[in-house]
Amino acid sequence: AVFDTAFHQTLPEHAYRYALPDSLYREHGVRRYGFHGTSHRFVSQRAAEMTGLPINASNWLVAHLGNGCSTCAVVDGQSRDTSMGLTPLEGVVMGTRSGDVDPNLHSHLARTLGWSLGQIETMLNKDSGLLGLSGMSNDMRTLEQAREQGHAGATLAIEVFCYRLAKSLAAMSCALPQLDGLIFTGGIGENSALIRSKTIAHLKLLNLALDDQANARAVRGASGPIHAQGHPRVLVVPTNEERQIALDTLALLEA
Ligand code: AMP
Repeated sequence: AVFDTAFHQTLPEHAYRYALPDSLYREHGVRRYGFHGTSHRFVSQRAAEMTGLPINASNWLVAHLGNGCSTCAVVDGQSRDTSMGLTPLEGVVMGTRSGDVDPNLHSHLARTLGWSLGQIETMLNKDSGLLGLSGMSNDMRTLEQAREQGHAGATLAIEVFCYRLAKSLAAMSCALPQLDGLIFTGGIGENSALIRSKTIAHLKLLNLALDDQANARAVRGASGPIHAQGHPRVLVVPTNEERQIALDTLALLEA
C-alpha cells in the first residue's frame, strides 16, 4: 500500500506535535500526520524538473486544492510541515470540510444546542467548507459562476477560502530557509485563475505577484510558470498521484 501520510514522516517534532499532554502522544499516537503526501511529493519533484533546480537542494510551498485541500512546505525533497493533522479536517477551507476552527466549538455546540459528537463531526466534515459558507455547492466551478451573478454566499465562500489559504501558505513559509517557488495543484489549483490570483493578492509580504495572462492560460492540464517577472516563482503543476504510486511500486519491486 502507498500511504498518503508517508511523505510527511520527515516532519520535525516541533511541527508534528500538538501542545497537548505528552501522554496523549506517547500512549495514544495523538500527533499531526498530514495527508495528500503522494501529490505534494509528485508536484514538488515535477516543479524541480521544470525549473532545472535539484529536488534535494530546493524549497517549495505547495497548495493542493481539490475537494480536499492542504498546503505543504517541501525542503530538499522532504516534507517539513503540512496543514492537515491527526485527520484531514485540520487546516484550510475545503469543499465540505471546515478546516481550522476553535477546538472549543465542540463543547459550545454540545452545551448550547445539545448536539451529539456524531452530529458535530458530520457538520464539520460534510456540511461545512465551501458548501457550508455558500449555502449552495462544494464545487468551485458552480461557485465562480454564482459569484459572477452576484450570489453573496458564493462570494463569501471564495473570499474566506482564498484568505485562509494564503494564511496557511504564509505559516508554511516558516519551515523554509528560502522560497524557490509556490506550486498550485489539484482540480482548483490547476484550473482556477481566480482562486490563484485572489490568494496571491494576500501574499504581498512574500513579494509574490502573478502575470495575469500566464495565469489565465494555465488551465485544463497546462503547466508552467504564472508569476510576474522579477517576482518569486509561482507554478501550476498538474498532479498525478496514480503515476507516483506506480513509480513507488516499481522502486519497491526493483529493490
Ligand atoms: P479534485 O478533487 O482534484 O478533482 O478537484 C475537484 C475540485 O476542482 C472541485 O471543487 C471542482 O469544482 C474544481 N475544479 C475543476 N475544474 C475547475 C475549473 N475549471 N474551475 C474551477 N474549479 C474547478
